[in-house]
Amino acid sequence: MTTRRHSTPRDPGRREPVAAPPPRAFRHRWMLDWAAPWEYTAHAVRGEVVRVQSEFQEIEIVETEAYGRCLLLDGEVQSFEADEHIYHESLVHPALLLHAAPRDVLVLGGGEGATLREVLRHRSVRRAVMVDLDPHVVAAAREHLPTFHAGSFDDPRTKLRFGDGRAFVETSRERFDVVIIDVTNPMAGGPSCRLFTAEFYERVRDRLNPGGLVALQSDAVTLHGLESAAMIYRTVRSAWPHAASYAVFLPAYTTDWSFTLAGPGSVDAAAVDPTEIDARIAARVSTPLGFYDGIAHRRLFHLPRYVRDAFQKRGPVSRDARPLQEQYPGYTG
Ligand code: SAM
Repeated sequence: MTTRRHSTPRDPGRREPVAAPPPRAFRHRWMLDWAAPWEYTAHAVRGEVVRVQSEFQEIEIVETEAYGRCLLLDGEVQSFEADEHIYHESLVHPALLLHAAPRDVLVLGGGEGATLREVLRHRSVRRAVMVDLDPHVVAAAREHLPTFHAGSFDDPRTKLRFGDGRAFVETSRERFDVVIIDVTNPMAGGPSCRLFTAEFYERVRDRLNPGGLVALQSDAVTLHGLESAAMIYRTVRSAWPHAASYAVFLPAYTTDWSFTLAGPGSVDAAAVDPTEIDARIAARVSTPLGFYDGIAHRRLFHLPRYVRDAFQKRGPVSRDARPLQEQYPGYTG
């Protein structure tokens, strides 16, 4: 048996240890965007534009290297300058173009003003009421996200109100042709959980004119993160006889993002011919779109099989007594 000698600093040929260089530092702050349980996308941040704490949430706008300015609320990414048009056009135009002639539109949330911007492109729209919880989000967007709102807050058709979207639909007597719900994800302890429940959708239903449609953002759909979107779909289905899910790939999110379209009549959005969508855009939309057209529409409404299967499975719906509340795994904030 041989005995191994431990080397010591006095061994000939061994150099004394030297102080290690400082740990390698990234040149940027890296911002993590939750994509699915245990999956985050990292974005290089060039600098902070503004950060304020409102009564409801922390509001931050940063300049990213790859996707321009980005709005975060309570640390959660809301939208990026470079691809927000893909999200907002997909959220708004299917509902407005599938409605025969939308005049009165309600937007719940949508603090950046980009949802409103898309609504106001429609020549038929006479009145767009936007209700966001937080005046400080709108103030920050007004000053620092000019390409997002593009002046929509000051359009004469806009009626901007501040308050809880749920309280608005429960107390208002107004009726709308289309309701667009663009509130933050239902994060545990966040301000929007009560805007994803069956009871809330029933009140939204009461605010629709006959033939009215509702469209909402309904969370990411990824291989490992389908349950929230599926629960939102089931919950919408509990309030309306007809509902369709659709999704778009958002480059900055590196995931597909889902939306739900619902109404009292059949919404067979997948069957509408692309040439019909293009004809409606030409007749009804006042300025050129960057993403949505007939072909894009067809793709939006044709989901991959694993997503369709998850959405068709039976499961619980979100109710006031037990609302859907998301949490980031591995997050301590
Ligand atoms: N695309 C987004 C996302 O990733 O979830 C949503 C964008 S938009 C910035 C979300 C808006 O919802 C914010 O301006 C926030 O103030 C608003 N919001 C949150 N809870 C709300 C509530 N209870 N009533 C009305 N607006 C609400």
